[in-house]
Amino acid sequence: MVDRVCQGSVFEIAFSTKLEKTRKQTRNKMTSQQTTQSTNSLSQSESILRVMPETAMFDVMGGAARLEKRVLDHGFVALVDCMPRLAPVGKTADFSIVQSARVSYGEGTKQVNEDRGLVRYLLRHRHTTPFEMVEFKFHIAMPMFVARQWIRHRTANVNEYSARYSIVPDRFYRPSLESVRAQSGTNRQGGDGLVDAGTAEEFLVMLDRAEGLYKDYLGLTEKGVARELARAALPVSVYTEWYWKCDLHNLFHFLSLRMDPHAQYEIRVFAEAMYELLKPIVPISCEAFEDYRLGAMHLTKLEIESIKSGSPLATTNKRELAEFETKCAQLGIAIPAAKTSG
Ligand SMILES: Cc1cc2nc3c(=O)[nH]c(=O)nc-3n(C[C@H](O)[C@H](O)[C@H](O)COP(=O)(O)OP(=O)(O)OC[C@H]3O[C@@H](n4cnc5c(N)ncnc54)[C@H](O)[C@@H]3O)c2cc1C
Repeated sequence: MVDRVCQGSVFEIAFSTKLEKTRKQTRNKMTSQQTTQSTNSLSQSESILRVMPETAMFDVMGGAARLEKRVLDHGFVALVDCMPRLAPVGKTADFSIVQSARVSYGEGTKQVNEDRGLVRYLLRHRHTTPFEMVEFKFHIAMPMFVARQWIRHRTANVNEYSARYSIVPDRFYRPSLESVRAQSGTNRQGGDGLVDAGTAEEFLVMLDRAEGLYKDYLGLTEKGVARELARAALPVSVYTEWYWKCDLHNLFHFLSLRMDPHAQYEIRVFAEAMYELLKPIVPISCEAFEDYRLGAMHLTKLEIESIKSGSPLATTNKRELAEFETKCAQLGIAIPAAKTSG
């Protein structure tokens, strides 16, 4: 486990230093390509007008084929492509959002600080389509039970490893002995704290037994049982893989739900890894996302009225009251209480 965490950090450091170097190389290469006007079949076609960029462009992924982060014990998130892949030197892929938004307003000004203002305005006011102009394509390996939660996000394009066509690889998720969560007493859908060491050990033994079925799975497929049927015996801790492409607007929606503390830890770590990969590519949008979505709070009409009037929240719903208490604590204000007479 520790080894994997270390591998992850080393990769990130190597990446960040290498990124700048590769960006410079790509920049130089692009500029020389522009001047020599490379001839390919596109430029030879007389019916196609080939407009070269006004400024030098760089590869926002620093020339990398994939940018990868290790997640859990056998999982990974790899960014394999994005749109736009090229951005004007001195800008970021956020430029594409501004470019499409400006079609509404005409050219306007092109200053970077004004680009930032526009992106922040668009996100704050939920002008969503410009964010759909940016796309990210990931290759992900995750446990099957994580994939089941993930696939509920319908706006992405997905292509998954076929366990009908191929043998499922021998990879199963197992938490460490020290991280077996206990069932939460307050949230029926979540874990909270840890179980005692003995119970944790018992749970891992059960996982051993479930993983042991893999041997039978292999044996029976070799004897001729169809792969599409044999897989029915494998536990949901088995890993699957897919390519997952999503635009930035829907990706922010996914991330706001799956980076939230209410999301299950095992999907949250994937969402956090994805966010780390895309943040250097669209830093302005991510800053706005953090300011106006991730770190923001939604107040209901009843909550606003309670805060304004200083009267208790006009509901007897325990859950709603508890949510209001949490919000008041976050805001650093006292919970409006019933006024005592006399
Ligand atoms: C903490 C947590 C707990 C959850 N618990 C459960 C659970 O117990 N059981 C369960 O079944 N699910 C559960 N879910 C899944 C949840 O209900 C959503 O299905 C999931 O989060 C996807 O959200 P979405 O539909 O907004 O996202 P997406 O599918 O990515 O869609 C994004 C947005 O596009 C629009 N959209 C997409 N498709 C359509 C459509 N066909 N029609 C209209 N609008 C559309 C909607 O505005 C939607 O919000 C849980 C999710 C979370 C985060």
